[in-house]
Amino acid sequence: MENIYDVIILGGGPGGLSAGLYAGRSRLKTLLIEKAFDGGQIATTAEIENYPGQMEHDSGPSLIERMSAQTVKFGIDKVYETVEEVQLDGPIKTIKTSENTYQSKTVIIATGANPRPIGCPGEKELIGKGVSYCATCDGAFFEDLEVYVIGGGDTAVEEGVYLTRFARKVTIVHRRDELRAAKYLQEHAFANPKIDFMWNSVVVDVKGDEIVEGMTVEDTKTGERREILADEEDGTFGIFVFVGFVPNSGLYEGQITMEGGYIVTDEDMKTNIDGVFAVGDIRVKTLRQVVTAAADGAIAATMADKYISGH
Ligand code: NAP
Repeated sequence: MENIYDVIILGGGPGGLSAGLYAGRSRLKTLLIEKAFDGGQIATTAEIENYPGQMEHDSGPSLIERMSAQTVKFGIDKVYETVEEVQLDGPIKTIKTSENTYQSKTVIIATGANPRPIGCPGEKELIGKGVSYCATCDGAFFEDLEVYVIGGGDTAVEEGVYLTRFARKVTIVHRRDELRAAKYLQEHAFANPKIDFMWNSVVVDVKGDEIVEGMTVEDTKTGERREILADEEDGTFGIFVFVGFVPNSGLYEGQITMEGGYIVTDEDMKTNIDGVFAVGDIRVKTLRQVVTAAADGAIAATMADKYISGH
């Protein structure tokens, strides 16, 4: 049993890192497997304003750097590998990555969610050529250009405000005539002279050969379509898509109970499989935030400890 972990955590976002911190402090033999880089969505978030104790104007990457360092301090193992297959039934769970096979008594799933695309023609082809899902990564490319932000939730409005640092004008294109975003964020956006709104509108295609040159927007009330073309001098504009997220749960299909792709847990983060827990944005929940993901992680690691010790 010496090569068998007590806990394997899948995903290094706030939920996974918090689970790692609690598991490490409980002296559980713990492995965290992350595909690319720690942080999940927070790694590409410019500013976090609502994590308790967060320093003013501190960025997502900086918060994650501190979380990662704190987790590793408590002695967990960490690898950067892509999980390809999971076998979650039975007392010993098996996780196969591109490089290795690991075994564990418990698994904490913290693989989060990926940005949802609009799904219209031209979008995929022009990713990185004007279409982006990350303002922190790509905002600076649009210095003094026009930018369209698609969506009306917290992410769209928050990132729209951030993009005004670079863009000469930001237009938020939303499918209804009322934003979903928190009131506080709305107030920021409405007060910003660089932000305009295009209500009751959806993007139905994106055009351009090597770079975004235009897009077609449809009025959701009248069905009327209109073409938006890049200013002649600019030659292009930015399209930042923030229309929600899709849970990263394909790996667990057929093994775990889900609703609409999100994993169902009880309030102790337990799934329908003994010894398997899910935390953060991948689970069915009302509030998806750093603080709730971190809380989920703490609960899951504590429950994994209880499960292993039989208490
Ligand atoms: P979200 O809350 O799911 O909002 C998605 C937005 O995109 C909605 O306004 C939705 O319109 C629109 N939308 C969805 N599908 C669309 C489509 N196919 N075409 C056009 N528009 C579409 O997603 P989110 O803003 O990324 O937020 C995700 C979670 O993270 C939320 O729980 C949010 O509270 C949280 N978050 C929090 C903060 C913060 O606290 N500072 C920051 C970012 C995110 P409808 O409104 O009409 O449905």
